[in-house]
Amino acid sequence: MLEVSGLTTAYGAINALRDANLTVGEGEVVGLIGPNGAGKTTLLGSIAGLLPISAGAIHFDGADITSTAPEKILRSGLALVPEHRRIFSDMTVEENLKIGGITTKASERAELLDEMVELFPVLRDKWDTPAGYMSGGEAQQLAIARALMSKPKLIMMDEPSLGLAPILVDLVFELLDTLRSQGRTILVVEQNATRMLEVADRAYVLRSGEVVADGTGRELLERSDLFDTFVGG
Ligand code: ATP
Repeated sequence: MLEVSGLTTAYGAINALRDANLTVGEGEVVGLIGPNGAGKTTLLGSIAGLLPISAGAIHFDGADITSTAPEKILRSGLALVPEHRRIFSDMTVEENLKIGGITTKASERAELLDEMVELFPVLRDKWDTPAGYMSGGEAQQLAIARALMSKPKLIMMDEPSLGLAPILVDLVFELLDTLRSQGRTILVVEQNATRMLEVADRAYVLRSGEVVADGTGRELLERSDLFDTFVGG
């Protein structure tokens, strides 16, 4: 469904990502792990069209989306839950969700909203609350629900468990399992490498801007040579 080939992205003279290759098949949960500064956020941002790339190609759902505008990429079915959530804190939960669904047909939105409160009951409780008043765990659920409101064919999440209390980290990983059982396709950046490898169908390991290993979660967990790379795991 997603195929990234030879992707290179630079900030000025520095290549934060070099010649990265990655695929995500329909219905797969794919992890992206590696230490701070490895280029994980840069990779997601490049796929989402938020960063200009220097080389390489990105194909999604049969189309070439290389250097396509972010809004068009979102409309093609590829949504990003950004690092630090980036929800609209002055707006209520309902308003945040409606903005997430802006690319869908108006006639579909009521059903999508129902789906989101079923998946994340806390959002029903906080429906009229400005998102800025929510706890970290609630805000993360809202950020994921907002992305799901666009009916994505593939959802990318950047460090969904970052900064959350252990019990909420458990919730995030349970949620990944639930989304997988719904048949959704997911690419997740996680600093919690060991947990990610336990839930991922496959994963890629990034270090210093390069993909240094890939395989099933189980295969990578057995690679003791990569242990230093599994920061936070
Ligand atoms: P983290 O887990 O810390 O978010 P990451 O693997 O997501 O790490 P990136 O954020 O993609 O890594 O950063 C990759 C490299 O690019 C790092 O060396 C970082 O310092 C650099 N970098 C990231 N954003 C910028 C920017 N806006 N300007 C310049 N350099 C940047």
